Amino acid sequence: MKRALALLLLLLALPALLLGCAAQADQRRYSASFLGPFDTLTELLGYAPSEAAFTHQAELVQAKLTGYHRLFDIYHSYSGINNLKTINDQAGIAPVIVDGSIIDLLKFCKRVYSLSGGRVNVALGGVLALWHETREQAMNAPMNAALPDEAALRQAAQHADIEAIQIDEAASTVFLADPLLRLDVGAVAKGWAVERVAEEMPEGYLLSVGGNVRATGVKPASAAAWLVGVQDPTASAEAYLHTLRLSNGSVVTSGDYQRAYRVSGRLYHHIIDPATLYPAQYWHAVTVLCPDSALADALSTALFLMPLEEGGSLAASCGAEAVWVGLDDRIFYSAGYREHIQHQNRAGEVAS
Ligand code: AMP
Ligand code: MG
Repeated sequence: MKRALALLLLLLALPALLLGCAAQADQRRYSASFLGPFDTLTELLGYAPSEAAFTHQAELVQAKLTGYHRLFDIYHSYSGINNLKTINDQAGIAPVIVDGSIIDLLKFCKRVYSLSGGRVNVALGGVLALWHETREQAMNAPMNAALPDEAALRQAAQHADIEAIQIDEAASTVFLADPLLRLDVGAVAKGWAVERVAEEMPEGYLLSVGGNVRATGVKPASAAAWLVGVQDPTASAEAYLHTLRLSNGSVVTSGDYQRAYRVSGRLYHHIIDPATLYPAQYWHAVTVLCPDSALADALSTALFLMPLEEGGSLAASCGAEAVWVGLDDRIFYSAGYREHIQHQNRAGEVAS
């Protein structure tokens, strides 16, 4: 019940994050929202010549996101589909024939593993499942909130070798060579799916899947960019650190407030440091701004899992900008981030 309430509050807060842009001369502005894919709220804003044209786009977006959600789901099976749960269930048993999207996503995940120095590791599913279970139990019965068993965490971490994810592109199969390895693509799948959907969207649209935001440009008739609010992780849901201008590209945040629970008054969030097997202790939130939503999602998780200097170099090497909110509430920007800020509520400093 508590969990449902928390989710609802989050969903109510999200519409405020998309602040719109100036009207187009020849087109009207429409919006749609729906729940379902990736267990969150999707919002679509866009300029279209008619309501029918916009509704057609919204239906396409919903269908595509639902398809990706089913393929990347590790909790549910769907008839006629081999998804990530199928691969997990077949670990150590047999290769699974899968849709090309799963192959492409997992190849991207291997790249992200290298980029992040092994910190973003989708083979950590065993460890993440232990945190997921204890979090779910705590949400249902906060009085009995507990941490995962330390020995179980260490045991699960023995089965997180990224090389044991064996991809055969020619056969379109995936085989987990370790019977105890489990995949969890929560750090990257939403952004990857948003990018694939955005690739096929017309210009002049803004898509947010649970706050994973991607704009496909503004119409040539309008000079105004979309405005996207970046949430202040230390304040209430409606408070922004700042708003960003976004015309073509993506904004994604990883934060310690997004999925967390308390044990003995202490907050335990959902992004796990492979070095400690406990929630990362570097930042309250990291927001990444870059053209590609898959990269923005992967990088926001990666930067959340590393200190400023390392994260700054990684972002720069990927052509991304970022803002970090520290555990002490200090705010740091990458060199070019502030150029994108429209309105600032709380100032920070440029990372050296
Ligand atoms: P995000 O909100 O994009 O930063 O992703 C958080 C999600 O990624 C979590 O809910 C887990 O499913 C997953 N995750 C957490 N820690 C890690 C990690 N170290 N490597 C890979 N995935 C992770
Ligand atoms: Mg991410």
